[in-house]
Amino acid sequence: MQPKYDFIVIGGGILGASTAMQLQERDPDCTVLVLEKEAGPAKHQTGHNSGVIHAGVYYKPGSLKAKFCKEGNQATRDFCDAESIPYDTCGKLLVATNALELERMQGLIDRCAQNALPIEVLDKQALNEREPNIEGEGAIFVPSTGIVSYTQITQRMLEKVEEAGGQVEFNKEVVKLEETGPSITVTTQEGSCFVADQLIACGGLMADRLVRMLGITPDFKVIPFRGEYFLLPPQHNTIVNHLIYPIPDPDLPFLGVHLTRMIDGTVTVGPNAVLAFKREGYKKSDISLSDTWEMLRYAGLRRVVRQHFKASLNEMKNSLYKPGYLSMVQKYCPSLTMADLTPYPAGIRAQAVSEDGRLMDDFHFIKTQRCLFVCNAPSPAATSAIPIGRHIIEQLTS
Ligand SMILES: Cc1cc2nc3c(=O)[nH]c(=O)nc-3n(C[C@H](O)[C@H](O)[C@H](O)COP(=O)(O)OP(=O)(O)OC[C@H]3O[C@@H](n4cnc5c(N)ncnc54)[C@H](O)[C@@H]3O)c2cc1C
Repeated sequence: MQPKYDFIVIGGGILGASTAMQLQERDPDCTVLVLEKEAGPAKHQTGHNSGVIHAGVYYKPGSLKAKFCKEGNQATRDFCDAESIPYDTCGKLLVATNALELERMQGLIDRCAQNALPIEVLDKQALNEREPNIEGEGAIFVPSTGIVSYTQITQRMLEKVEEAGGQVEFNKEVVKLEETGPSITVTTQEGSCFVADQLIACGGLMADRLVRMLGITPDFKVIPFRGEYFLLPPQHNTIVNHLIYPIPDPDLPFLGVHLTRMIDGTVTVGPNAVLAFKREGYKKSDISLSDTWEMLRYAGLRRVVRQHFKASLNEMKNSLYKPGYLSMVQKYCPSLTMADLTPYPAGIRAQAVSEDGRLMDDFHFIKTQRCLFVCNAPSPAATSAIPIGRHIIEQLTS
């Protein structure tokens, strides 16, 4: 007879790992199985991101993002302290380069006040003193922003799952879900079957497909957006003292191309946000005809493209035309040249888009009697992974 687990968690990214770890912390006697389709942890969004521990500048007051990001900023640092994982609370600057951005910057200052987030407002001179290589009319300094390796955090969380008696299985792609009476049955690609009382699906780029496996039509579709990066050569590792972000367009969900001091001491530029033609295709040339056809048929995406036509075209152009990409960062760091943009792996964001053409902003979950699906968990979900895991467990037991 098959063993019956208390919980099966799909996904070995940071959300699956955080949830599994906290399930066992809450009840050391419970049985937990993590199923991940790749050969190791953090092979998708979690292992292809900027590694920023966000502070919570941008998020609508009262939203799950605002709440979990703030809690997650502290929880991530506490976890790293407890587990001896390196991080650096290096702070970040949001730099306004013109009158429109100064106006938008004021909106962000108000939002920080609403979210009770301590910041410092810098004028042109103070910005120049703090960051001699950065030009702007003014900036917001956010001291609690930091950097870390989310791959390292995820690996450690999964190790803790195993140390507490849980099971983590790689190369197990879930292909079928059946919720029958008192249990949920999970079938994997190679034909294994697992049974549990409850299931939590943290499938990232595959979130909507996992919901569909249960015969439910989700109220969204995952649309993949490539985030393309470049790496600055080592002589620029000290070009900035903090993370440098542009002031974002408030109508768009992405933060704009930024300069990120990574935890290994290197500096990346990026990411942009370009529609991808394959959900887990990291090369520019990766195209999946079935993924592309599925997107093109989706009315929600067509509406998004119509609403953001100019921005979409611009991102696409700058992705194909390197001088265009460079100009986005030269706006605030004029000394960088084309030769400074060296190759670096891209990431792919899972962005939920509703049928009516909304880029869903907040974290979104779907719950059935025995299952909880994480449906929209874009940035700052890595920062927020510990409070999101806690929230999932509260939802399961409520
Ligand atoms: C370019 C980029 C930059 C970002 N920067 C930041 C940042 O600086 N700070 C921040 O807080 N957040 C950032 N994010 C967001 C953050 O990385 C994600 O929100 C977070 O990693 C989501 O974690 P996850 O576990 O939900 O997804 P993932 O890490 O994508 O994990 C999902 C896992 O589910 C597995 N899976 C899917 N389907 C199946 C199946 N059928 N069977 C078994 N396994 C399955 C996948 O293989 C994958 O490993 C960024 C994201 C990107 C892409």
